[in-house]
Amino acid sequence: MKFGGTSVGDQECIGRVVGILNHYHTAGDELCVVVSAMAGVTDQLHAIAAEIEGVRDDPPIDTFIASMRTRHGKVVQAVAPGESDAVMEVIDERLCNLKNILTAVYNLRELTPRSRDYIISFGERLSALIVSAALREAGVPSVALNGCEAGIRTTDRHGCAEVLPESGTHIKSRVVPLLAESVPVIMGYMGCTENGIVTTLGRSGSDYSAAIVGVAIDADEIWIWTDVDGVMTADPRVIEDARVLPDVSYHEAMELSFFGAKVLHPRCIEPAMQKSVPIRVKNTFNPEAPGSCLVDVSEPDHRVVKAITYIDKVSLINITGAQMVGQPGVARAIFSALGEFEVNVMMISQGSSEANISLIVDDEHLKAALAALNEVMQKGYIQEVEHDRNVVAVAVVGVGMAGTPGIAGRIFTALGREGINLMMLSQGSSEVNVSFVVKQADGQRAVRVLHDEFGLAEES
Ligand code: ADP
Ligand code: ASP
Ligand code: MG
Repeated sequence: MKFGGTSVGDQECIGRVVGILNHYHTAGDELCVVVSAMAGVTDQLHAIAAEIEGVRDDPPIDTFIASMRTRHGKVVQAVAPGESDAVMEVIDERLCNLKNILTAVYNLRELTPRSRDYIISFGERLSALIVSAALREAGVPSVALNGCEAGIRTTDRHGCAEVLPESGTHIKSRVVPLLAESVPVIMGYMGCTENGIVTTLGRSGSDYSAAIVGVAIDADEIWIWTDVDGVMTADPRVIEDARVLPDVSYHEAMELSFFGAKVLHPRCIEPAMQKSVPIRVKNTFNPEAPGSCLVDVSEPDHRVVKAITYIDKVSLINITGAQMVGQPGVARAIFSALGEFEVNVMMISQGSSEANISLIVDDEHLKAALAALNEVMQKGYIQEVEHDRNVVAVAVVGVGMAGTPGIAGRIFTALGREGINLMMLSQGSSEVNVSFVVKQADGQRAVRVLHDEFGLAEES
């Protein structure tokens, strides 16, 4: 069971989490827990790291450490009063390490990817201690493990490391023996390289930790506890009548999460899919609700379209140049350069005139993408590269779309009726998704129009 940031955001939330775990523990289930940092803490760690790299004097390190101590200390007092002194001692030790690394970054005015990963792993280092202590306080034996102790071995791609296959055996040998006597609480989001260097798995990476651990220990199910009732037909923050989907196929969930449905991390789905371990998404604030279940094949639905997502913080890149017409090797030059610069391309489309290729990359990769394309331009393969940051990518997802004619027509007619202009369009060959790009200002409206067009708010 994985609990996200809002689910462990304060003492009441952690109390709720303990109640849920206690319930299943008492019912005889063997449980393994993965936790995120308390809501907002990872953002604050990112921000302080960036800030102190740039300040000239008076780095706000002491104030920061004090605020972390106050927030976490208050929760410890509330949820684990019986062992609060002992827990605070460990928290102070951790905060001392954090202070030392922040001071080193300030002294050197250099924040390497390796130091950043170490710094941003502290949210989980603190939250897991507290959840584990709160469980013990409630009479449930528990130990806290960091990602590395739990056996999560990763590549050294700091900031978005990938879990290595050998993690499976490490996790199994370390975690399974604990399950009979206790409920281990593992710090999500973090792992380490073979040499023990701390890494993180990308924002929202605790879902990925949970899937890796769940599969490694042969869990019957992986439960992702969050702050909504399940995977929904759209982000409920954007579409107020979005509906919970009782079942979603792994493929659909993968497309949804890749295109911005924050409720699951895209990388958490594949490991579970490979072993057919069901992933259940449930609401900590409404535990009785059945939630959503990710399965191999979802129930067919006459609407064909299952859900609509959109992703902002992306950029559209338009590549033009007459040299591209009929020339083999141009696409290779473009994509190898982007690959060398480690740019993750989210969408690709090429017009049939071949004089134009459009790409979508996330904003973080824009600078590297432009540098890569500049090199391709220097080599004479392409002529012009333009970009636009004020765009969003919208995805319409549903496995039933494969082989159902007319869906694309309905999508574009509905958008056209509303005067929403399409800037780019792409359909994967799997046909599980049709995705397109519109101006940022039109993004939410596009989701609304399509949610209505396909009647997604209605119960089936
Ligand atoms: P956690 O802290 O539990 O990991 P997240 O904030 O990462 O939670 O993910 C949950 C949020 O995802 C919800 O509050 C919701 O606003 C958002 N979300 C976006 N798209 C969807 C969707 N299709 N279904 C459910 N939630 C979604
Ligand atoms: N705490 C990390 C983040 O905020 C990981 C997670 O919550 O899944 O991105
Ligand atoms: Mg999340």
